[in-house]
Amino acid sequence: MNETKKPKDNYLDNHFIHKSNWLRAAVLGANDGILSTASLAIGVAAASDTRDPIVLATIAGLVAGALSMAAGEYVSVSSQTDIENADIEREKDELKEMPEIELQRLAEIYEKRGLKKETALTVAKELSEIDALAAHIRDELGINEISQAKPMQAAFASGAVFTVGGLLPLIVVLLLPLKSMEYSLYGFALFFLIILGVLAAKTGGSSVRRAIIRITFWGTVAMGLTAFVGYLFGVNI
Ligand SMILES: [Zn+2]
Repeated sequence: MNETKKPKDNYLDNHFIHKSNWLRAAVLGANDGILSTASLAIGVAAASDTRDPIVLATIAGLVAGALSMAAGEYVSVSSQTDIENADIEREKDELKEMPEIELQRLAEIYEKRGLKKETALTVAKELSEIDALAAHIRDELGINEISQAKPMQAAFASGAVFTVGGLLPLIVVLLLPLKSMEYSLYGFALFFLIILGVLAAKTGGSSVRRAIIRITFWGTVAMGLTAFVGYLFGVNI
């Protein structure tokens, strides 16, 4: 199937809104990396008196988490690509079978955006003469350069940010004293999570205070519960 060239809008590059989506996804991915790896490490640290099992579990958790994030992202973004391509194929057929109706549909879209009926029809006609499919993909289906799904890129990005997040607890596990390992992991993980929470809140323009309270509460619940399970196992080993 030949890939249709999607319209390129380079004036969008200097607007922050398009970068903030990426930043938010990266912050959430790193957040996952920190929380799930730290929780796992805390659980094993609570059950173990030696460092090796904790290091092993942390590395295994980090690798498994990063790969499953990447695989999950690849699968979900690929299905979005499939949907986009199926829509584009259907659009091609509609343009072939009923060009007049499609032209009207495009004009109606511009009319809804506020153009006068005649102006809307003129714009629709002129854009259709240039590249009817491109105009319909952009203005009817809403697919453009920025929104276009890139499975491999998305998978790599989410696996990479998860790994960066998960490396932080691993460094703690490798360097800090074994005796208070659970508390060090909890403290450092919470510290990194709060920084990320503030970053996400500032990027999204939402309340920093609420972000800190939310991340502290859920971070504590997640790490606290895994520590509890670890203690239970620790007592029984
Ligand atoms: Zn159409």
